[in-house]
Amino acid sequence: MKSLSAPARRPREPRTGPLRRADIPAPAPVRRPTGTGSVFGAILDHGPVARSTVARLTGLSPASVSGHVGRLLARGLVRQSAETSGPKGLGRPHIPVEIDTGTYLVAGAHIAVAHSTLSLMDLRGRIVAEDRQPHRTTDPHRLLAGLAARLPRLVAEHAGGRTVLALGLATGHRVDPASGVIVAHPQLGWHDVPARDLLAAATGLPVHVDSHSRALARAEQLFGQESTRTSTVLLFVGAVVDAAFATEGAMHRGPRSGAGSVAHLPLGAGGSGGAEPCSCGRTGCLQSEVSERAMVRRAAAQGLVTGSFPQLLARALAGDARAVALFRRRARLVGRAAALLLDMFDPEVLVVVEPGAGRMPECLADLRAEVAERSWVCDDPERAVVPSSFTGSVLATAGGAVALGSLYTDPLGPWPALPAVS
Ligand SMILES: [Zn+2]
Repeated sequence: MKSLSAPARRPREPRTGPLRRADIPAPAPVRRPTGTGSVFGAILDHGPVARSTVARLTGLSPASVSGHVGRLLARGLVRQSAETSGPKGLGRPHIPVEIDTGTYLVAGAHIAVAHSTLSLMDLRGRIVAEDRQPHRTTDPHRLLAGLAARLPRLVAEHAGGRTVLALGLATGHRVDPASGVIVAHPQLGWHDVPARDLLAAATGLPVHVDSHSRALARAEQLFGQESTRTSTVLLFVGAVVDAAFATEGAMHRGPRSGAGSVAHLPLGAGGSGGAEPCSCGRTGCLQSEVSERAMVRRAAAQGLVTGSFPQLLARALAGDARAVALFRRRARLVGRAAALLLDMFDPEVLVVVEPGAGRMPECLADLRAEVAERSWVCDDPERAVVPSSFTGSVLATAGGAVALGSLYTDPLGPWPALPAVS
């Protein structure tokens, strides 16, 4: 078990007794988009769009929208569109504005249990480049240094002259975006890793960190499914199993950064015969039943020899009946967890990040059927349970979404690469 000291300005004493109220850090204020952020978001959703339309969409006055758009233009975040709208020859032409994808990019990093993914993303959330490498070490200092060292080459080869504004880092389990610390990642053996400070020192970039589930929920709000903006639960099923909950655009993190820790949700499966016990010592936990490791083990126990989860997935996608059956079983069990989360939060929509549900219609149907059978409040799983908008590029999306989430929340904030505006 590796462990690191937290940065000096945010000491963490090891706790031995029960958590006391006084030990719980004050929650960071919920960040909501500023006025300029609302205008920026409307341009993302509707651009190229006329300023008058932005005023109608945001409820701001035309003069106020002009001011916000002026600042976004000055920062190089939006540009005047080449096309004009409105009838020609009748008064002043309306020049629409749109997100400028030609000037800036963000970098993203995702740390999985066995590999890390580095990516570049434009301001519309499109992946420009992606580089995945297996971990050579799980020592946090060396792993983060290795990630930082890979970035200059990715930028040189793919940025096309665009400036990288910031680096977003996403990983599983408990991450505190306010302090930039990975609080606990049991599968990597990490505790209180000051990832933001380490990566900022190594790259010279502003660094934003968050949990991958919250990052992907934010990515859905920005670039994916609009229905996630009212309220959403996102369930991430990979090597790590965890979740995120957001309402009215605000992510709930919890005072311990622990919201969404559903890895040990007891499924009451009973049907886990032959499965290994969970890392917590019990059997039938969500993670020990449906994680990638559990899938590979179960496949091996059935004589389906696959060296890795991607190989097992490839066999299922190719139609191998036994591999498909394993993914359908997984979909049913994920459906049980989804039903519990739907009953607990009653979100507008629950997003499942799981490649079977994302790519095999029968798995999504099984998952929804399980929800229909078990949830007490969700009577329309066809609408309320959806696969990720980023199936196939989930990990490349997660890191960049952390940085873009911050940018769209506060585009006038301290972004050192951007020109200052008054
Ligand atoms: Zn467990």
